[in-house]
Order: sequence, then structure tokens, then C-alpha cells
Amino acid sequence: MIKADAIDALLPQTQCAQCGYAGCRPYAEAMAADSAPINQCPPGGDEVIAELAALLKTKILPLNTAHGVAAAPTVAVIDETACIGCTLCLPACPVDAIVGARRLMHTVIAAECTGCALCLPPCPVDCITLAPTGAARDRTTQHAASGGLRRRFIAHRQRLAARGHERSRKKSGAPLNAAARKQATLDRALARARARLTKTPE
Ligand code: SF4
Ligand code: SF4
Ligand code: SF4
Repeated sequence: MIKADAIDALLPQTQCAQCGYAGCRPYAEAMAADSAPINQCPPGGDEVIAELAALLKTKILPLNTAHGVAAAPTVAVIDETACIGCTLCLPACPVDAIVGARRLMHTVIAAECTGCALCLPPCPVDCITLAPTGAARDRTTQHAASGGLRRRFIAHRQRLAARGHERSRKKSGAPLNAAARKQATLDRALARARARLTKTPE
């Protein structure tokens, strides 16, 4: 879908879902299908609205603040003394910016966090907070980071989908195919790497 690709290329890739869609790509596809207006992305603010209006040859609209306001960037911080290692925040992070493993403390890779806040609600002990990065919202910086964020969002969704298929396969008793075997191996390697990263040095 070329039009959706071009629209998605302008979106910030924060993957925060404030637009009402499950990430930038679904919102881009809705705009490409003329089923969503161009003014629902708070992280993109007026700049992204203007870029979308130029691309789609439509008029500029004010940001619809029912979806939020264009705020300065934030980063998630985990209180590692309070973290119980439940792992519930891991699947919630759309760009895989949290590392940790079961019963071990979790931590946020600040450089990869978009401040989307999606990890806060699943945390049962409320040990995740958002803090300002200290930087101003800047379209050039946002655009420069978008390629990496898009790749991590796609990888995240593919991994969640593969796990969903695996749960269905186990329920049905069907044998593991080659792709699923490869994914299971990758998942185990990732879990081991996360466990190593979160171990406190002696
Ligand atoms: S940055 Fe957030 S609000 Fe903007 S398009 Fe992406 S998911 Fe939607
Ligand atoms: S760590 Fe939390 S705030 Fe940061 S990108 Fe992941 S879900 Fe969003
Ligand atoms: S959801 Fe909260 S308690 Fe559970 S691993 Fe994540 S930060 Fe730790």
C-alpha cells in the first residue's frame, strides 16, 4: 500500500496509540483509506499535520486535543527496588525498550523509549513513572529516530503474533513447524540475554 507507506513515513513512530489506533501504521492505513482525519497524532503536533496535509493535498486542521496535546518528550523510569519481575510490562512496550526476565528486576533502555506510557497500566506495583527527557519536542530528532522505532514496532508485533500462534498450536496439539521452531529458539536466546543484562554484577 504505497499511500499508507508514504503517510506512515511522516508519522513519529512513538506507537503510543493516542490517535485511537494500535500504532502509527494502523492510523496511516486508516488515513490512506480516507477513514480517519489527519489531526489525531499529538506527538506529531502541528508539524506532522502540515506534512500530512501537503502529502494528501488536503487542508490543514488544528490538532484534535481529544487525543492529547503535543507535549515535550518523556522517558519511562522503573523503580528497580520496587519491581517484582513479573514481566507484565514487556509485551506492553511497543518498541521493546524494556529488558528483564521473570523474577529479575526490569529496566528501561532510555535511548529506545518513546515515552508512550503503555507500560504503566500493566504494572501491578506502579513502579514505572514517566520523567521529562529535558529535550524539547523537535521534528528533526523525531524524524531521525522514526526508522529504528518502526523496525522495532514491526518486530514486536511479529513476535506477539508468533506467540499467539504458538499458544493455539499447543492447544490443538499440532506439530511445531520450522518457522515456529526458529522463533522459539530466538525467544529462548532473547530471554537468556535479558537475564544476563539484568543480573547485578557481584
Ligand atoms: S505517534 Fe502515537 S498518536 Fe501518532 S500516529 Fe503514532 S501511535 Fe498514533
Ligand atoms: S518503556 Fe514504556 S514508555 Fe517507554 S516505549 Fe516502552 S512502553 Fe513506552
Ligand atoms: S510490570 Fe512493573 S513490577 Fe512487573 S516487571 Fe515490569 S516494572 Fe517490574
